[in-house]
Amino acid sequence: MNKPSILVVEDEPSIAEVVSLYLQRAGYEVTVLGDGLLALEWLSEHDPDLVVLDLMLPQVDGLEITRWLRSNRETPIIMLTARREETDRILGLEMGADDYVVKPFSPRELVSRVKAVLRRTRGATEAASEQPLQFEGLIIDPKTRLVAVRGEEKALTAREFDLLWWMARHPRQVFSRNQLLDRVWGVSEYIDPSTVTVHIRRLREKLEADPSNPRYIHTVWGVGYKFEP
Ligand code: CA
Repeated sequence: MNKPSILVVEDEPSIAEVVSLYLQRAGYEVTVLGDGLLALEWLSEHDPDLVVLDLMLPQVDGLEITRWLRSNRETPIIMLTARREETDRILGLEMGADDYVVKPFSPRELVSRVKAVLRRTRGATEAASEQPLQFEGLIIDPKTRLVAVRGEEKALTAREFDLLWWMARHPRQVFSRNQLLDRVWGVSEYIDPSTVTVHIRRLREKLEADPSNPRYIHTVWGVGYKFEP
């Protein structure tokens, strides 16, 4: 089996170097680029298994790259962000980035995030042998990873699909945000639980006729979320 390939886009040489070193040691094929424009050019010709993306970059910033990736690919994205970039971080998650780490971070933490995301992507491939789930007005097909809502196909990001798939396979079961991080993201210790909130909101916007009065994904106050079949 080929080594999974990772693109690291980071303009700070010392960070790029240590990230690249740790990822290579963990068994990944790593490409490092220090400029957003170069990254977009490179991505138009290559399809890595995952992108580690700094938000503040010369030429083209990380949010722009996230936007481009989301309209063209399902490649998982882990953002590298500074503490003061909270607004951009939330924007990045809204656009479909999978996770983020806040600088300064430990390279080990980043490696464990990368592993978790790739494990989940592989888990998604295994789900492809399962049958579609059908509910009133909603069909979820793990083979094609397509969702039809009231007869209309909806485009979900990889993570949104995995979250919906997990909840729909466990109807009426209540999951806390940390449980969802553990089951769907594959890791819970480093990720902010508000990541789940953002994904739930995006799912509702795509699935629900009235997102403020949801039919499928219900909030159980003080506990978490459940899927109503
Ligand atoms: Ca930077």
